[in-house]
Amino acid sequence: MTNPSPPTVPLLINGEFVTSRSTQWREVVNPATQQVLARVPLATADEVQAAVAAAQAAFPAWRKTPIGQRARIFLKYQQLIREQVKDLAAILTAEQGKTLADAEGDVFRGLEVVEHAAGIGNLQLGELANNVAGGVDTYTLLQPLGVCVGITPFNFPAMIPLWMFPMAIACGNTFVLKPSEQDPMSTMRLVELAIEAGIPPGVLNVVHGGEDVVNAICDHADIKAVSFVGSTRVGTHVYHRASQAGKRVQCMMGAKNHAIILPDAHKEQTLNNLVGAAFGAAGQRCMAVSVAVLVGEAQSWIPELVERAKKLSVGNGALAGTDVGPLISCAAKDRVESLIAQGEAEGARLELDGRLPALAGAAGEGNFVGPTVFSGVKPGMALYEQEIFGPVLCIAEAASLDEAIELINANPNGNGTALFTQSGAAARKFQENVEVGQVGINVPIPVPVPLFSFTGSRASKLGDLGPYGKQVVLFYTQTKTITERWFDDSSVSTGVNTTISLR
Ligand code: NAD
Repeated sequence: MTNPSPPTVPLLINGEFVTSRSTQWREVVNPATQQVLARVPLATADEVQAAVAAAQAAFPAWRKTPIGQRARIFLKYQQLIREQVKDLAAILTAEQGKTLADAEGDVFRGLEVVEHAAGIGNLQLGELANNVAGGVDTYTLLQPLGVCVGITPFNFPAMIPLWMFPMAIACGNTFVLKPSEQDPMSTMRLVELAIEAGIPPGVLNVVHGGEDVVNAICDHADIKAVSFVGSTRVGTHVYHRASQAGKRVQCMMGAKNHAIILPDAHKEQTLNNLVGAAFGAAGQRCMAVSVAVLVGEAQSWIPELVERAKKLSVGNGALAGTDVGPLISCAAKDRVESLIAQGEAEGARLELDGRLPALAGAAGEGNFVGPTVFSGVKPGMALYEQEIFGPVLCIAEAASLDEAIELINANPNGNGTALFTQSGAAARKFQENVEVGQVGINVPIPVPVPLFSFTGSRASKLGDLGPYGKQVVLFYTQTKTITERWFDDSSVSTGVNTTISLR
């Protein structure tokens, strides 16, 4: 759909929202209608440089800003976000496609991190040990690093930017955010609210762009740390390139999340949970359940699972009653449809075909693929080996819990997994033996709240420390350990001591 003069998405440099001078722009398109919502620039090298320079210049004053003052900005910020949840969700649904209720969830999960950032006073406490040697005390300071950067994916344009800049800035760093160029508008609205909450000029900056901008960030000597969330291919590149340039890097990447269903599971709950976790957000969640491993008699549940999946309403996420919105782009739709075709060709059983779905009230121009279910999926098939990132549930079978755990552990990814059972012993065995960083027991999408950290593992992550929670405070700070002794006249020793002991 044409829009004669779509608005342009600005950059934020040193507290000013400015129009890029770039000659390269791309369109932000509503994936349910193809309406062009805005144009976003691919920032120039000079603009990236200006954003980093602004962050670098703002750092000395910001790092000295008292912790209570920093915290109060985030108290105000959480209030502003709370007041704007509906408006933010409407922008997010228009540019990303997920349903309005799910878009509110996207904002809310980010809001929880902002609330957590407001508690930075407690989170950034160091440690002290008294009298570690005669008259000697040791304590730690958690000091900010300098300019940090966040690079975010399209699928959570509210939550994932909010995983990054609030905690980094609350820790005393300054920040350059590089949102997804596919849906930057809700992220920019959140950035406006952050400025309104009192984040000073230069402390938060935003550049837009793709490969060139990301590479410039990886190479920039003044950037100290990079947080990335996105695909495994790009994340692996960012991790190596930015590490090579001496930065701290954390990359949260792609997934293939398995849920094991034991025959003793609560059937009603399990089937509802599986369908919600596989097809919600059209499967475009890094923690979506994409493989269901049915153990023993649970294999007879397939027809009921398919019946529930069929009942989901596919359409424009902005319309009431929609369960499954569109995929982010025409290219994503083509890719998912071709993987479905490949699955059939490779011999998996297509139990439910979501291509050309019946649409609830939509004009039909969107990138719609409906819930799709394959059974008989096996390692080696493209359906199993690739992250589909669409509403496609692969069903695999296993004879026992041990066999199902073996299947999961043989898969390289380690973002999330779940077990459905009523047996405590089975649950305990599963959580002990499964090699995945985030485990749900009768919880299909076990994304930890910000009291904890996001702890994906193996091929789903590079870097040691996860986003938000306690781990990210360590990521965004340098631990400095001070060992100190004060002399008074009674404790002055005589003579030189050439041994290592402090006593
Ligand atoms: P993506 O990797 O295509 O894009 C992520 C970011 O990298 C974007 O900002 C993009 O502009 C930039 N980028 C794209 N191509 C690039 C290139 N060639 N060089 C340098 N930078 C480039 O990811 P996406 O499609 O936006 O998001 C979906 C992916 O993100 C899925 O794989 C999903 O599993 C993953 N994801 C992971 C988590 C997690 O926590 N593990 C959370 C959300 C999404």
